[in-house]
Amino acid sequence: MREIITLACTECKRRNYTTKKNKKLKKEKLELKKYCRFDRKHTVHRETK
Ligand SMILES: [Zn+2]
Repeated sequence: MREIITLACTECKRRNYTTKKNKKLKKEKLELKKYCRFDRKHTVHRETK
């Protein structure tokens, strides 16, 4: 049940990353700090549809 999800930068709203997660185990929205090449710094990236 691992589904591909998209991570979008919370500052510029661009979708920079995809990852996988088990939706049965983690129901809350995933948030990861990742490097955004558009902002040229690390920003919080949040799960989006
Ligand atoms: Zn960004």
